[in-house]
Amino acid sequence: MDTQSKREREKQVVSLMIRLYCRKNHRAKGPLCPDCAALDAYARQRSDCCPFMETKTFCSNCKVTATGPKCGSRSAG
Ligand SMILES: [Zn+2]
Repeated sequence: MDTQSKREREKQVVSLMIRLYCRKNHRAKGPLCPDCAALDAYARQRSDCCPFMETKTFCSNCKVTATGPKCGSRSAG
């Protein structure tokens, strides 16, 4: 599996986890409450620019924090 596919797959998994969590804990009317929608967007953006995608298994293992390399220098897309 190439890195791009791995990123996409991770994004799907993260989104699914956030959706399940939100449904269970926040009972949002839509797919996601505003807080979880923001979290989902952030997680996806982070996955896009994670430098450890090759070696790690999941972004929760990622050492990149808010003080780490800046995300978002690339245009979102
Ligand atoms: Zn929520």
